[in-house]
Amino acid sequence: MPKQVPAYGAPSAKAALIPFPIERRDPEPHDLEIGILYCGICHSDLHKVANDWGNTHFPVVPGHEIVGKVISRGSDATAFREGDLVGIGCIVDSCRVCRECRAGHEMFCEKGVTFSFDSFDTKRKSWTCGGYSAEIVVDERYVLRIPHGLDPARAAPLLCAGITTFSPLRQFGCKAGDRVAVVGLGGLGHMAVKFASSMGAEVTVLSTSPKKEGDALRLGAKHFVVTTEEGALNPLEGAIDLILDTVSGPHDLDRQATLLDSFGTMVLVGLPPAGANVDASALVHGNRRVAGSNIGGIRETQEMLDYSGRQAIVADIEQIRVDQLNEAYQRMLRDDVRYRFVVDLSTLHS
Ligand code: NAP
Ligand code: ZN
Ligand code: ZN
Repeated sequence: MPKQVPAYGAPSAKAALIPFPIERRDPEPHDLEIGILYCGICHSDLHKVANDWGNTHFPVVPGHEIVGKVISRGSDATAFREGDLVGIGCIVDSCRVCRECRAGHEMFCEKGVTFSFDSFDTKRKSWTCGGYSAEIVVDERYVLRIPHGLDPARAAPLLCAGITTFSPLRQFGCKAGDRVAVVGLGGLGHMAVKFASSMGAEVTVLSTSPKKEGDALRLGAKHFVVTTEEGALNPLEGAIDLILDTVSGPHDLDRQATLLDSFGTMVLVGLPPAGANVDASALVHGNRRVAGSNIGGIRETQEMLDYSGRQAIVADIEQIRVDQLNEAYQRMLRDDVRYRFVVDLSTLHS
C-alpha cells in the first residue's frame, strides 16, 4: 500500500505553497525509504513554481537538495544501512544502460531522466514529488553518501548548488592560479567561490549587490566588483580565464564575454527565463568560448561530496520551518538570502 506523507507544494502557477499529503510508493527491491531531515531551496524551485520555463505540472512539490536518514531497505538494496545519512539531488532514475548513463551523465539519459520533482516517472506512471516532504523512496543507485563530519543541514545545498558549480570547475580544468570570475553571489555563486578558491584559483565575484563584498572575501574571493557601477568592469577586460555565470535573471552576457582572456570560457549555469544574446565578434576576437553546464551525474556528485568532506566545504545557510517557505521564496526574489535557505522537515510534524 502506498504511504501518505505530509508535504508542502504549490497547487498552481505562482500560488503560495500550502501543506497537503502526497503518496510515496512501497519500497521496491532496490529502493531505500528515507526520512527527510533537511532540504535546500534552489532558485530552480522558484522558477518551477512560477512556471518560468513553461513546463511545470501542478500541483508541484519542489525540493532537490535532500538530506535524510535511511528508514528501511528493499530486499535487494545492499549499499546502505538503516540510519545512514544520505543525500538525494536532482536525479532519481534513468535507464542505466544508454551511452550517457554508462558515462555517468544520467541527466542526459537517452531514454529520459527522472528528476526528483516535477518529472514524469514512466515506470510508475506518476509525477515525482521532491524534498519539501517527510519521506521519499528512491532506488539506491541514485542515493549519495554524506561524508562523516559534515553538518547535515549545511550539506543539503551541496546536492544541487554544490554539484552544479563543482562540475564545470572540473570540466574546464580549474587549477591553482587560474583567474575565475563568479557572476552572482547567491546559492550557486557562494558554492562556486568556495570550490574555486579551494582549488587555488584567484576568484573575482561580479555582483549587483555592493553589500555582499565582505561576505565574498570571507568566502574566499580575492576581488569583488559591483557590475552596476559605471566603468567597474573596464579593468577586468581580458583578465579572466573562466567565468561561472550563476545569475537567475536577465543580464548582459556580451559585456561579460569581453572580460575573458583569449581562449577563456564563460560557462552558463544560471537559467534566466528569458534568453540572452552574445555578439559573435565578442567571441571571435580572442577565441573566447561560451558553454553551458547542467548539474552533474551521480558519480561526480559523490566525488563532489567526498571532496567537500575532505575540504570541510558546506553551504552558508539560514535554516527555516516549513511555514516560512513562502517568506523564504519572497526573500529570494528580493535577493535577500545569505546564502541558502534550508528547510527543517521535522517542522512538518509540529
Ligand atoms: P539565487 O540564490 O537566487 O542567486 C542568484 C543570484 O543571481 C542572486 O543572488 C544575484 O546575485 C544574482 N542576480 C539575480 N537576478 C539578477 C539579475 N537580474 N541581474 C544580475 N544578477 C542577478 O539562485 P541560485 O539558486 O543560485 O540559482 C541561480 C540560477 O541557476 C537559477 O536560474 C537556477 O534555476 C539555476 N540553476 C541551474 C542549474 C544547472 O544545472 N545549470 C542548477 C541549479 C540552479 P548578486 O546579488 O551577487 O548580483
Ligand atoms: Zn537546483
Ligand atoms: Zn540512460
